[in-house]
Amino acid sequence: MLRLPPLRYEAPSTLEEAVALLAEDGALLAAGGSDLVPNLKRRQYPTARTIVSLRRVADLVGIRVESDGTIRIAALTTLATVVEDSRLPKVLREAAGAVASPQIRNQGTVGGNLCVDTRCDWLNVPDTWRQAAEPCLKAGGEMCWVAPAKKDCWAVSSSDLAPVMVALGAEVQLIGPDGRRSIPIEQLYRNDGMAYLTKTTEEILTEVVIGPHAGLRATYRKLRRRGSIDFPILGVAAAVRLDDADICTEARIVLGAVASAPLRVPTSEEVLVGRTYNAETIAEAAEAARKLARPLNNTDLTSRYRTRMIPVFVRRALEELG
Ligand SMILES: Cc1cc2nc3c(=O)[nH]c(=O)nc-3n(C[C@H](O)[C@H](O)[C@H](O)COP(=O)(O)OP(=O)(O)OC[C@H]3O[C@@H](n4cnc5c(N)ncnc54)[C@H](O)[C@@H]3O)c2cc1C
Repeated sequence: MLRLPPLRYEAPSTLEEAVALLAEDGALLAAGGSDLVPNLKRRQYPTARTIVSLRRVADLVGIRVESDGTIRIAALTTLATVVEDSRLPKVLREAAGAVASPQIRNQGTVGGNLCVDTRCDWLNVPDTWRQAAEPCLKAGGEMCWVAPAKKDCWAVSSSDLAPVMVALGAEVQLIGPDGRRSIPIEQLYRNDGMAYLTKTTEEILTEVVIGPHAGLRATYRKLRRRGSIDFPILGVAAAVRLDDADICTEARIVLGAVASAPLRVPTSEEVLVGRTYNAETIAEAAEAARKLARPLNNTDLTSRYRTRMIPVFVRRALEELG
């Protein structure tokens, strides 16, 4: 049985106290802990000293829908709550419902899902397994075992909600030592398996805001080996707006689990916008997505299979929206 290393536990009651605690060496933020705790048990964070839990901070739970349709989801709202809230877009409820299992959705939060650590077959194994080889870049070593010729870490962005939130054009609110700020969620992510978030370690995501989205059609498709529990090994979030003549006026296509950040596919979007939405343009957009993404062999199933599934999943998603 894997056990947690000895750690100090802090549960502050205000965000300001939490931000101050996060400035200490070796402090890690915990929401539901459903990803952080298994990672700690596998000794993925050897410098960890203190867990700063958000559980006692008031006002970090709940969903508000404003009169103009703007949706505000507080960071500690559980995935199960999102699944059950009929005021939310279907795409969001379905993506939240595709995460892990009912038990994990009861524990896991929206903020935790959006900030969830990147994953790699060489990293997400117990410490003893990792010691059988030189540590990889993310484990403090000199090389990436997946792409040894490269100098970067290729651990995979494995959040189900992140591509959907990017497709919906959401914003996130952050609080840190310099106060509060709001950024488009796309800017929260960096395509780097180690430093995969652009925010500082002291900054806490407090809320996700989805602006009015009437008329936007959106869907999410997830590839995984089993029907539950498994992380995505490909996620496709698509959002389009069509006018009365079936001309596509807006498109966002975002791939999950094929890079270290949710990957927007501008080439597919350009194919769609301004043209009639039909089988031909959908096929072109799907092919453009295949050309952009380069999944590697560091998650379940082979990179070749996942690459071949990209146009299939993009096409199915876009057909569903037609
Ligand atoms: C068996 C198993 C299967 C899983 N399957 C899936 C899956 O299919 N899809 C999927 O998306 N995830 C999956 N997960 C990962 C995880 O359970 C979910 O992503 C969950 O939503 C994480 O939320 P949490 O509140 O538990 O995050 P935590 O584990 O508490 O935190 C995760 C990370 O986010 C950071 N963080 C948490 N909250 C904030 C915040 N408010 N501001 C800034 N940083 C924050 C933490 O510091 C940590 O780095 C799975 C996990 C397990 C164990």
